[in-house]
Formats: sequence, C-alpha cells, structure tokens
Amino acid sequence: MQCQPELSQRAVALKPSLTLEISAKAKALQNDGRDICSLSAGEPDFNTPDFITEAAREALSSGLTRYGPAAGDPELREAIAKKLTRENGCPTTAGQVLVTNGGKQAIYNLFQVLLNPGDEVLIPAPYWLSYPEIAALAGAVGVTVPTSAESGFQLDLTQLESRITPRTRLLVLNSPGNPTGRVSSLDELKALADVLRRHPRVMVMSDEIYEHLLAEGQVHHSFAAVAEDLRDRCFTVNGFAKGWAMTGWRLGYLSGPESVIKAAAALQSQSTSNVCSFAQRGALAALQGSLDCVHAMAGSYNSRRELLCNGLRSIEGITLVAPQGAFYAFPQLPQNAPPSLEFCKRALEGEGLALVPGIAFGDDRCVRFSCAVSSEIIDDGLNRFRRVLKTF
Ligand code: GLU
Repeated sequence: MQCQPELSQRAVALKPSLTLEISAKAKALQNDGRDICSLSAGEPDFNTPDFITEAAREALSSGLTRYGPAAGDPELREAIAKKLTRENGCPTTAGQVLVTNGGKQAIYNLFQVLLNPGDEVLIPAPYWLSYPEIAALAGAVGVTVPTSAESGFQLDLTQLESRITPRTRLLVLNSPGNPTGRVSSLDELKALADVLRRHPRVMVMSDEIYEHLLAEGQVHHSFAAVAEDLRDRCFTVNGFAKGWAMTGWRLGYLSGPESVIKAAAALQSQSTSNVCSFAQRGALAALQGSLDCVHAMAGSYNSRRELLCNGLRSIEGITLVAPQGAFYAFPQLPQNAPPSLEFCKRALEGEGLALVPGIAFGDDRCVRFSCAVSSEIIDDGLNRFRRVLKTF
C-alpha cells in the first residue's frame, strides 16, 4: 500500500486559484472538442505590443541570460520610480521599488514581511480571490468588509472602522476593482484616509493593476498620492499584465517605504531570485514607449464592456452595478437562481458557458463575466446565460 506524504497545515488549508482553475478547465474542455464559451479568464485577448517583445528578443540575443539583482534591474526600478512619481503623483526612488514575478508575488512578499500569525487584514468584499489566501499563507486572518450590489459596492466607512481591532495591520484597496470594476473616487479615498489617520497601526496595500483600464470619464487616483501624510504606511502594487497584455511575462512591482522593500527583496533573494532577466527589458521598453497601445486596448475593452453590460441589463431579474474600469461585469443573479457555484456548474455543464462564481470573490449572489473576448463571444455568452436562467 502506498503511503501519501503528509502535507503542511498551510498547504492543506490553501485553496487553489479558482479563476485560473476555471479558465484552464474551459480550455481543456474546448480541446476535447466541446462547444465552450468562456467568459471566465481575467486576461487580455491582445498580443503583447511588438516593440515590447522586440526589446526582450534583443536582450535575449545579446546574452542577457544571467542572474541579475534580486530586487530587479536598476534601470527598470528607476523607470518604475519615475512613472510612479510623474504619472501617479507618488514621489518614489528606485530603492523604494521591488520588481516581482507578477502582481501576485508583490502581494505575497509584502504580506510575508509585514504580517505575523494572528494579524488581521481588512479586505473589502467583493475582493480578488487571492488576497485572503495570500494573507492566510502569512498566518494572518482576512477580515472581510462586505459591500453589496444594492449599494453600488460602495464601502461603508463606519462599518470598516468598526472592524478595526488592535490586531488589524493592513487594509487592502483595489481600484479599478476585480471583480466589480468599481473605481474609487478622489473623495472616497480622502474620506478613507481620514479613517486611517485615527488608526496609526493600520497600513494600506493599494492594488492598482487595472489603472489604465478605465471607462470614459473615469480617473484613477493612487492612494499614496491622495494621502501624502500616510505615505510611510502605504504600499502600491502594480504590473504590466493587464495594461500591456503581458500576463504570461510575470512582471509586477511593489513600491513603498524602503525598509520594507529591502525586507521583501531579501525574501525574494531566498525564494525566486530576480524576475526573468530579458523579460524585464520588455517591461522597460513598455514604460519608455508611448501609452498609445495601452489606450487603444483600453478603448476596445470599453466598447466590449458596454456590449456586455447592455446585454446583462436587458435580462429581467439581473442587478448590475455598472463597472467603471477593468474588464469585468459582476451581475447579481435573480432571486430564484441557485447559489453562484451551483449556477456556474449548471452553466458549464448545460450550456458550455464558463463564468466565475461570485462566492470565490466573497459574494455568492453574483457571477463574474470577463469582456476581454470578442464581441461574438460576448453575444454568444449572453445567449447561453439567458438559456441557463430559463432553467430555474
Ligand atoms: N487576475 C485575473 C483574474 O482574476 C487572472 C487570474 C488570477 O491570477 O486570478 O481572472
């Protein structure tokens, strides 16, 4: 009889990423010849712009294939610092930047170096599903602060403050948000900063990975720029995946107070070392190039988001809070629909429609649609969605 190696408690408790799992399952079913319509992946359907791949190719041909500094290439750290200073209004030096293997590693490293077992992390819901898991990997406890479709997913600051305890160390912000597409206004961020001023032990991690994907008329504000006096406890996470269609490159970054960046770099030096050397040259080219390609892709998501939202709005019983950015819609299902996991299972099995259940994001009444697919796929997905709804 074979004996299974015993897993650590950490591994036993860990839930794998459902967003990645569902997208992979949809692809596998498609490869098996099933007629699948997948609106599950949170991934641009564009190729990385040529000038970026060209820069990486050149770096590879010129032999940039050895270890580099664990914290990232000095030129790239400098370029990111300049971008944060100029574009985001957050004066930043290269020493305050860590280049990471995607936005996820930026969050993982930050949580590992800031949090102790039992510390609490405030996570407004709906949230991107990896935040609570990455907090748990650091031994911390994710404390959700619920919001609802009825109130436009707006964070209630009184409720937020009531959840702050002596163990609270960190608040997670994500604007534009995944899965709701909500964009925090300047006034909202200022009001939030006022709450945080009353709680000096609470730090902030602002995940701004969707900053360039904004609906018409929306403006992105970096929390670290809004609350200058709180900058010594603000961390920004960002990356190239969403804006420049570079998901597979795994290129993200963390910025914030230098002492913490140093600790996160030390952690990186003992875990993964530097991010792929020639890929970093692609990221450098992205920052040095024009943003036209980013704006063109954002414009295309805007029209496709409109198409998706108009379709969803026309369906009886659906409550939709209009997303203001990113490339998702997070409608609330009609009252007679089953919980989100059951709904998505039925959608995939019955209609070949892949969606992500809201339960994964902390709201079991909703499901997540991605609009980073063609208009034809969106139309097809809406038709299948209507047919699934008719079965309840
Ligand atoms: N962030 C994207 C999503 O939510 C990519 C998948 C993931 O890393 O979770 O779908």
